[in-house]
Order: sequence, then structure tokens, then C-alpha cells
Amino acid sequence: MTTHVPPDLAARLVALRHDLHAFPELAFEEIRTADVVARELAALGLKVTTGLAGTGVVGTLHRGGGPAIGLRADMDALPILEASGVAYASRTPGTMHACGHDGHVAMLLGAAHLLAADRDFTGTVHFIFQPAEECAGGGRRMVEDGLFTAFPCKSVWGLHNWPGLPLGTLATRPGPIMASMDTFEIRVRGAGTHAAMPHLGIDPCTAAAEIVLALQTIVSRRLSPLAPAVVSVTQMHGGDAWNVVPDLVTLRGTVRCLGETERRTIADLMARMVPGIAASHGAQAELDYFEGYPATVNWADAVPVALAAGAHVPAITRRVGDVEPSMAAEDFAYMLQACPGAYVWLGVDGARPSKPLHNPAYDFNDDALAIGPAYWAALARQALAA
Ligand SMILES: [Zn+2]
Ligand SMILES: [Zn+2]
Repeated sequence: MTTHVPPDLAARLVALRHDLHAFPELAFEEIRTADVVARELAALGLKVTTGLAGTGVVGTLHRGGGPAIGLRADMDALPILEASGVAYASRTPGTMHACGHDGHVAMLLGAAHLLAADRDFTGTVHFIFQPAEECAGGGRRMVEDGLFTAFPCKSVWGLHNWPGLPLGTLATRPGPIMASMDTFEIRVRGAGTHAAMPHLGIDPCTAAAEIVLALQTIVSRRLSPLAPAVVSVTQMHGGDAWNVVPDLVTLRGTVRCLGETERRTIADLMARMVPGIAASHGAQAELDYFEGYPATVNWADAVPVALAAGAHVPAITRRVGDVEPSMAAEDFAYMLQACPGAYVWLGVDGARPSKPLHNPAYDFNDDALAIGPAYWAALARQALAA
């Protein structure tokens, strides 16, 4: 069967999305958003569970026996000062829906509308609204708080709007689709001195500069050229004067990998290189390496299911099963570690291309609200039948 979003539902979702956009909430603070979600789900007659992982909400549509699946949307906004210029722009200066999670919430609520209204639908769908996708690991906390124990799922599915892909495009791939995300801090300690008498101290600046460059040789010289990885030093802090060699330089940055082997290798090499290079300058360096999200890895068997569902949605005009992965990260990774499933991208470039995610002028393309809910509904049917 084909699935459409009726125009009156699409219009309702646009209004709902604009309301969420005007009242964005940061990670684990999605109280108003969770209330909106819970009220909408309850009005559809779904069983609603609130408070999972703090502000998480799960709505369950239960029709007849058989298996259950999970569909997941994220709810949080970002600490960005909005510059979109839209009438429904954020009323909380410095907080903004710049990743389209307002659209994700609206699309998943739209799917709940479609499936709840479908009298022929049988099966159980858990509509999972998670907090804190942006760096704070709400997806991890949901899994740790027993998401899949309280709501057993034979498969779980995630979706992100994707600037750079045209509207009507569905894209995914087997294996890693998004990278792991680790962060690090390096403190290079020397001995401060007069800048005109460098030999009387130990310069942490030159040691730090060499560390920055040496870290770039990990990816280029120590990993296979066929293994995608990124080591980025994004902060260098040190010194306050023109004529003083400082005591301390602090470096910070991030590591992204698609494979767990590369991730281990990079962490290991950094732990050996950093103190070694500092020592060769007579300085000392400490490395703190923080493990963040793992790579988001699609289950190979799930990808054909996700693609097949797109064939039932006339608004989806292009299906890509081997899209290039992104080196950004996504905490849906934790759900895919706990349960089979896949993560897909839905194109949002209209006549004008979308601004990039996390850009202060970004705004979710409302035209996707007439596509996403239909895709979710088709995917639920496809996944339950798989
Ligand atoms: Zn984001
Ligand atoms: Zn996002």
C-alpha cells in the first residue's frame, strides 16, 4: 500500500513544528517539548510513558499480537543564537533548533497520527522521543534506563533530515553511517621565561606546535589510507604577553572514526606520541582522552527493509543504499548497539538548498513534513512484516 500525508495533517504538523521551533530546549531540559509530545500521543489513544532518561517519552500503539518495533526521534536544541529570520524564531536567545530536531519530533508525531488512523494496521510500534542527542548522550541513557527491557523491540529505526540531499531522497548504507566522536585535552607544561632569553626556560609553545603537526601524521602515516578517520586540534590556548614564554599551553580537539580498530589505534598512538614529543623539548605533556559516542553502525539485514519501505511512499523519488558516510556523530549509535535496525537520512534541499546543520540560519524544511511521516508509517509496516 502507498502512504501519503493528508494536507490537513501536514498543515497541523507545520504549526506544531513552528511552535517547537519557537520554544527550543537544551539537552535533558526538554520539559515543554516532552509535554507537547505526551499530549499529542495521548490524544491519539496511545499508551504514554514519560520520564525515561529524564525527559524521554515513549508512546505505544498496540494493535493485535505479533512483534514490536521502535521508531526514534530526538527532541533537543543547540546553544546557538538563531539568525534564521523566520517569524517563529526561537524566543529563547542563545538556544535554537539548528539540527532540525523540531522537524524530527513533528514527523514522528505525524507517523503516530497516520498509523493510529489506519484501521488495517496490526502490530506494536513504540514511538521513542529521546532527550539530549547533541553531545549529552540521551540515547545512551535511554538504553541504560531500560528502554528495550520496558519496550522490547525486534528492530529500532532512526532518521535525520539531511541538507545536501534533495527533498524526496532517502539515503542509507549498511555498516557505519556516522562516526565515533571522542574528545581530548593535552596540557603541555614548560618553564616560563623572558621571551628574549628562551634558553633560560622551556617553551611549551614550540612543543605544542610540534604535537599539533605530529597528530596529523597518525591518520596520514599510521592508519590505512582506506580507513576513514579525523584528528582535529580545535583549540590552542597559552600565553598572555608578547614578551613572555608561558608555562603552559592547552590543546583540545576531537577524533572521529568509522571503525573501532582505528579508534583504539589513534587513542593508543596519541598516548605515546604526546609525552614523547614534549619530552624531546624538555617539556612535559599530559593527555586526557574522553570516549564519546561510538560509530553508528547499520545492521546489514535492516538496510534493505529501510529502502523497501521508501518504495511505498510516492513522495520518495530516489532511494540510495550506498550513501557516503558522515564523519559527524549520532547517539542513535547506542540504540543500534542494543537492538538491530538502521539509521536513514531524508533529504531536505528544496528549490533553495538547506543551510547546513548547526548553522545559525538553518531552518527545517517544512515540505519534509509531508514526506517523513509517510515514510515512518511505511517503515513500521515493512519492519513489522520483515
Ligand atoms: Zn546536531
Ligand atoms: Zn541532529
